[in-house]
Amino acid sequence: MQCFSTHNPQGKQFGLLDAIQMGLAPDGGLFMPVEIPKVTSQWLKDIQFKTFPAIAYELSVLYFPEVDKQVLRSLCEDAFNFPAPLVPISRPVSILELFHGPTLAFKDFGARFMARMLGYLNSREKLPLHILVATSGDTGGAVSDGFHGVEGIDVTVLFPKGKVSPLQQKQITTLGDNIHAIAIEGTFDDCQAIVKQALVDPELIGYRLSSANSINLARLIPQSFYYFEALRQMSPGARPVFVVPSGNFGNLVAGIMAQRMGLPASHFVAATNINDIVPSYLKDGLFRPKPSRETLSNAMDVGNPSNFRRLESLYGSTWNTIKSHVSGYAYTDEETLDGIKQVFQKYNYLLDPHGAVGYLAADQYNREHQEDQPLIVLETAHPAKFLAAYERLGIPVEIPQRLARQAEKKDLSITLPNDYSEFIDWFRSAHHQ
Ligand SMILES: *Cc1c(COP(=O)(O)O)cnc(C)c1O
Repeated sequence: MQCFSTHNPQGKQFGLLDAIQMGLAPDGGLFMPVEIPKVTSQWLKDIQFKTFPAIAYELSVLYFPEVDKQVLRSLCEDAFNFPAPLVPISRPVSILELFHGPTLAFKDFGARFMARMLGYLNSREKLPLHILVATSGDTGGAVSDGFHGVEGIDVTVLFPKGKVSPLQQKQITTLGDNIHAIAIEGTFDDCQAIVKQALVDPELIGYRLSSANSINLARLIPQSFYYFEALRQMSPGARPVFVVPSGNFGNLVAGIMAQRMGLPASHFVAATNINDIVPSYLKDGLFRPKPSRETLSNAMDVGNPSNFRRLESLYGSTWNTIKSHVSGYAYTDEETLDGIKQVFQKYNYLLDPHGAVGYLAADQYNREHQEDQPLIVLETAHPAKFLAAYERLGIPVEIPQRLARQAEKKDLSITLPNDYSEFIDWFRSAHHQ
């Protein structure tokens, strides 16, 4: 499977296995497969008789023909050992629950697959691979958990001290073993700057360094698998509209890639909070990144969505074409809270703030189109990760056992000042080689 860089589609091609070890193309563009593999119509007909890990395995064989089949099969069984149930809440609307993984967010699908794939690719190397990540909250948890216990890989997570929620902090800091958590006395941007500097520091040339960035194809490709898992749970012949709560737009791009693979999706709806760069692009054709603004659905507070270039690349950069396949809607925090309340009162179903943004978009699309197609809202996180919102609404939230247990574990993080040389001193003394 060959890949190109979105900066230069006609330029140099890279094998997919190289692309996922590099993360970003050398020219700074995003990798995309030259040709998206297709499933057969018979495969789609038989999907009802498959399990989710089997669906994931059969799809990953198409992307990774170089990888031993037995390795891929156990990789998928291990990475996707939790369900993604489709729960109908009203006549046209169903919720695809993507929060049953260990960190209670859909990022587990991509992070667990990538961790195991990099672990496998790295297993022939003598030196450990050091993954450096800066996190503002959610990514750190999914990446730490995904890589925990993966042999030959060592992860260092930098987070801004006192600026991630207490539960998010526990998800990063209590694992230990090959996961090192560092609280930096600074902001997320300071953490990011330290990671970026380390990745290009000639003094660290003896170490094998990499990042676990969300734009890596090894995180994106497995996200297209659960769209097929949704289809498996529908009546034969269904052509659903998928509604995707979006920030960096990886999830939506994965859905469109699934459609190219043969998923019978009739349309996509991009739902955002007030960081509405893509919905406003869909209105007037102008892509205008802006500084992000804080909202209740904070995993979607993105002012310059990095996967937009992939969206353009899939549709040949033409606004008219994109617009006919993707609709966009944006909502305020007040509307989001109201959406949570409405769905709770009407259907006795508790959405998280990201899923609520998705529900509002599904409802609006349905009212504007009246097409009688089923609508599937991707529920990207569990409500327990956002307790503040439910305190405002006076709705009690049950904390899943796993999260509650993790909250009681010891915080193993160390604190460092916002100073690059102090970080490097720590890194060297922690990793003598
Ligand atoms: C990361 C995240 C999103 C946004 O997903 P993108 O792929 O960046 O669009 C939405 N919801 C939750 C809970 C997330 O963690």
